[in-house]
Parts: sequence; structure tokens; C-alpha cells
Amino acid sequence: MKIKNRTRKAFVFIACSVFMLSCSTNKYAETDKVYKKLAKNFSKAIRATPPTDQKIDSLNNEQFFVGTVNMGIRKPNYVIIHHTAQESTAQTLKTFTLTKTAVSAHYVVGRDGKVYQMVNDYLRAQHAGIGKWGNVTDMNSCSIGIEMDNNGTTDIWTEAQINSLCALLATLKKKYSIPTANFIGHADYAPTRKPDPNNFPWKTLAKKGFGLWYDDELQLPPADFDTTSALRIIGYDVKNLGAAITAFKRHFVGTDLTPQLTEPDKLILYNLYKKYM
Ligand SMILES: [Zn+2]
Repeated sequence: MKIKNRTRKAFVFIACSVFMLSCSTNKYAETDKVYKKLAKNFSKAIRATPPTDQKIDSLNNEQFFVGTVNMGIRKPNYVIIHHTAQESTAQTLKTFTLTKTAVSAHYVVGRDGKVYQMVNDYLRAQHAGIGKWGNVTDMNSCSIGIEMDNNGTTDIWTEAQINSLCALLATLKKKYSIPTANFIGHADYAPTRKPDPNNFPWKTLAKKGFGLWYDDELQLPPADFDTTSALRIIGYDVKNLGAAITAFKRHFVGTDLTPQLTEPDKLILYNLYKKYM
């Protein structure tokens, strides 16, 4: 009997400890609740038949709805990589759980390699903002945003962080059939506004199939090679040509970010543009 009582007491003690521990460790319990409520509201909108706020008839007649039996859920087709420009993962998690910042990402990858998911892949995170890549102008609606914990001034990316990123990218690429060329940086999409990710190991990623890279052997472009068109074909918004060139160099050259193309830069651009054609 005594043993039984002791066992029961021990069980109650352990149960209380686990409960208290889980309460004290999850400091995001409140924002998790808000997330679930938002997701629930989105699911209501998806389930509504006919969908609300979607007048499809200009004559304002009755809205006819016939549910099909053949459909799927829209998938992301791009991955946008960022650096957080903050000092720690903890600081970024806080930033992304404050309403007033209005920013978020699907994933945050820490310098220690820990990966935090903050938005379901099928939902729209607020990471890319205004920009243009090819003809895509609402990147948030068709991409996964990944924030790499890095303040933007260091070129040190830990092995753990890059390994975790590559594992995540491999999963996303396979799951959503994301084309190799569609792994790009925030600065590629928003060259006039954003410098991230800076000093990023794009070549390492490209070797694993995430993003394109130029060949080791480069050929001279023809005399009439149009560098502006080449940048546009790759995807850059060339409305502000200097910003597009700097973004291109940040991604593919790295050593010099001046808004002019040097002769070696043109060789890289020529090689790459043929891959994107
Ligand atoms: Zn960014």
C-alpha cells in the first residue's frame, strides 16, 4: 500500500513538473493560439460554397455553384532566401510574432542549424513585399520564405546552418516540384529595396540543385550582346538598371557591388543568361 501511494505521489509530481515545464518553455503559447484562429478563419473561407466575396457574374444574378470532385491545393513555386538582419534567432521569432511588424516567414534557420516553422507552406507569409522577378509581382502568394539568422554584415555561415537549409530545400523542392532556377534571394526580387542575403554561399547551394550557377569555363559574349535584356531574361526587374546589376553581382559575383558590369561580369552574365533562356 505504501509503495502504491509513493508511486502515485511520484506520478503526480512528474505530471505536474511536465505541465509546468511545458507552460514555462512555450512562451509563444498566446501567438500560437492567434495562428490557429487565423488558420481556422482561412479554412472557413475555403469551405464556403459558393465562395464569399467572389462575384463572378457582372449582371449580379444569382451565383451558381457546382462543386467539382477534381481539385488540389495551390503550391509554392519559388523559394526566397533572406538574412534576418537581426542579432539572433530569438530576436527574429519575437519580431515575427508581433502584429505591428506585419512581417513573417515560413521558416527561420538558426546559426546552430535549428529550423523553426512559423507559417504552413500552403499559407502566405509576409516576407517578400513589393518587387518583381520575371513577371511575378506577388511573390508572397507563390513562394516559401526562408530567413537565415544573420545580421547581414558577416560572411560567416555555419556548416550547421547551411546543412539544415539544404535539407529543408531538398524537402521543399521534391514536395512541390520547385524548378531549380526558382531558388533566389530577396535582393534578386526587390533589388531597389533589399540587400539580402548578403555574402551568401549561392554556389554551394547551386551545386546541390538549388538555384543556377555559371560554368567554370566561360566564353566571350558576341559584340552585340545586350546585357540589359540578359538581366531581364534571367528575371531581374531592370527598371532601375543599377539596382538590378548590383543585385546580380551580389548573387553571382560577390566581390564588388558597384552598379556597372565589368568585362568578367559580362562573361558570367552571358553564360547564365543562356541557361535561363
Ligand atoms: Zn529579406
